[in-house]
Amino acid sequence: MTSDDHDHQHCLEMFQKLSEFIDGELDHVSCDEIERHADNCIACFTCLETLRRTVAICKNVKDQPVPQEFSRKLKEIIQNIPKTSLP
Ligand SMILES: [Zn+2]
Repeated sequence: MTSDDHDHQHCLEMFQKLSEFIDGELDHVSCDEIERHADNCIACFTCLETLRRTVAICKNVKDQPVPQEFSRKLKEIIQNIPKTSLP
């Protein structure tokens, strides 16, 4: 399976949805879409893992939304992963 035509712009759009995913407001179809994409995209997989870990930490510490700074970090992760590292 290749990701040669993978457009990271799509990843960024998807991760904008993830703020809803975090809050549990995203429907199950969209959640599946995100998880399926992450199966084929190392950048999104990394972000999703980071997201889950961060959300778990946030929920353990305080019952409040994930800070906006976090979505900025996600974008940095995507941008810092070179395309050559993709399968
Ligand atoms: Zn992706």
